[in-house]
Amino acid sequence: MSENEVLCLEGFSKSFGEVVALDDVSLSVTEGEIVALRGPSGAGKSTLLYLIAGLLAPDAGTVTVSGIDPYFLSGAKRTLFRSEELGMVFQDARLIPYLNIRENVLVAGGDPKRADELIESLGLTSRRTHVPKKLSAGEQQRAGLARALVTNPKLVLADEPTGNLDEENTELVIAGLRKYANDGGSVLVVTHDARVIEIADRILTLEHGRLRA
Ligand code: ADP
Ligand code: MG
Repeated sequence: MSENEVLCLEGFSKSFGEVVALDDVSLSVTEGEIVALRGPSGAGKSTLLYLIAGLLAPDAGTVTVSGIDPYFLSGAKRTLFRSEELGMVFQDARLIPYLNIRENVLVAGGDPKRADELIESLGLTSRRTHVPKKLSAGEQQRAGLARALVTNPKLVLADEPTGNLDEENTELVIAGLRKYANDGGSVLVVTHDARVIEIADRILTLEHGRLRA
């Protein structure tokens, strides 16, 4: 493992019955790097993110995040690993409906001062005491990004984070990811969005569970 490698996958495979979702995938992401992962529907992109997050065990292969293999951790330690080392962003923000935006951002911990800075930088200050259903999809998505970044994780896994957004919101989400990477964070982002691909340091393509650069 090179010293600034944050994510390392080796020989990663996963099948669901007859369906081979991932076939011998190896990749690494270094500190401060944004790697875009694209590929057709059903290629295995989301499965790859769930496997990295320790949410779904691989059939073969290893994954390490900051040198830690989540599958060597017990359930409680794996949950702690996920909250300390990882931030996750989805196409739908997946906010908790009865918590306001600031409470949602802080739900996994993190420094309240950093939460307020992120809320400010993502243009959500006037919305921070509102519950998610009072917000537009773009505002909810920005809140989801703030929640992923508030703990200063080593690695952010994002699954089509701009999939539902207009141009202006897409730019805000991209700027948030770019700033986080410039500060030393690493991003693996599943995307079809040309604007996200444009800011990536590296682009990978997954097809039928196999990776090509
Ligand atoms: P992508 O995100 O690239 O669209 P997915 O990772 O969601 O693709 O799925 C890859 C393949 O694995 C698909 O054929 C999908 O139907 C299958 N798959 C994903 N999750 C499951 C599951 N829990 N059970 C059965 N098959 C699954
Ligand atoms: Mg998917």
